[in-house]
Amino acid sequence: MMRIIDFHCDTMGERIARSEGKVPLRHNDCHISLEKMLKGGALAQFFAIWIPLEDTAQKLGVTMPPYEYFNFVYQKYLEEMEKNKDIIAPAFCLDDIKKNRENGLMSSVLSIEDSVPLEGKAERLDEFYKKGVRLMSLTWNYENSVAYPNSDDPEIMKKGLKPFGIETVERMNEMGMIVDISHLSDGGIYDVFKYTKKPIVASHSNARGCCNHRRNLTDDMLRLLGENGGLTGLNYCAPFMSAEAEKNNLTTCEDIVRQALYIKNKAGIDALAFGSDFDGIGNELDFGDYSGMPKVIEALEKHFTPDEIDKICWKNAYRVIGESMK
Ligand SMILES: [Zn+2]
Repeated sequence: MMRIIDFHCDTMGERIARSEGKVPLRHNDCHISLEKMLKGGALAQFFAIWIPLEDTAQKLGVTMPPYEYFNFVYQKYLEEMEKNKDIIAPAFCLDDIKKNRENGLMSSVLSIEDSVPLEGKAERLDEFYKKGVRLMSLTWNYENSVAYPNSDDPEIMKKGLKPFGIETVERMNEMGMIVDISHLSDGGIYDVFKYTKKPIVASHSNARGCCNHRRNLTDDMLRLLGENGGLTGLNYCAPFMSAEAEKNNLTTCEDIVRQALYIKNKAGIDALAFGSDFDGIGNELDFGDYSGMPKVIEALEKHFTPDEIDKICWKNAYRVIGESMK
């Protein structure tokens, strides 16, 4: 059954694009392959183009500057979409997802993790939109022309959006590109709530009150997210789940249930969705990979009603995509 919408994975950049054709999207040993998505019940997947920077880029051997790197992964993405058009098709708005579904196709939505390729240029946002980008994480782990990242340094953590960042949020609202606060500084997150006129997402973040990690959202942020009409995508990264998960280097279905219940309690059921971070996380998963998603849903079903499960799987995503993406 096609019903899961997931707001974040790193598969396209991290596993496919740099493999020089050795790892195809359709069939592979990653968390996500199109075959595993079919088996797991995927309706739509946000494929992020994550931009490696500084020491991380060095470690991965990425020498291309951010804008060039975006275009490099983008070309691979287009090739994969063309090769697999019998089972998946790009989506640019909610109607596309619905149409693809009617045609028996899964949907793919393109996103950027880190606005660094903007390089302070407003026209780049138009370019990304034309290329099909419909969600942008304002930062990854470094400062850019828009904002500051989440950080252990309290001085950085409290910094808000830069003037170009405020302008970017407003333009994203107008053009129909979803604003993503995952990885953003706490000050930046509060600024996004202040300036956005549309529901926003934390594409892959959990609750800090349930697992004290700076990448997770505080109770107050979760409350604001509920008021905003946005959502957060449950992230399967063990250090964001619980101390136990981090210690065991293993995320279990029960860890996901615990975070989901906590978030429901603080933000409301309408703010819950999936944001796996598949192929961007190093820990084991007791459900394996995307094809194991029915096990996650089975665990959730012990604590949530069928209507709530629908909300987590796709209904909340439909609402936010319908309001913030065009
Ligand atoms: Zn991330």
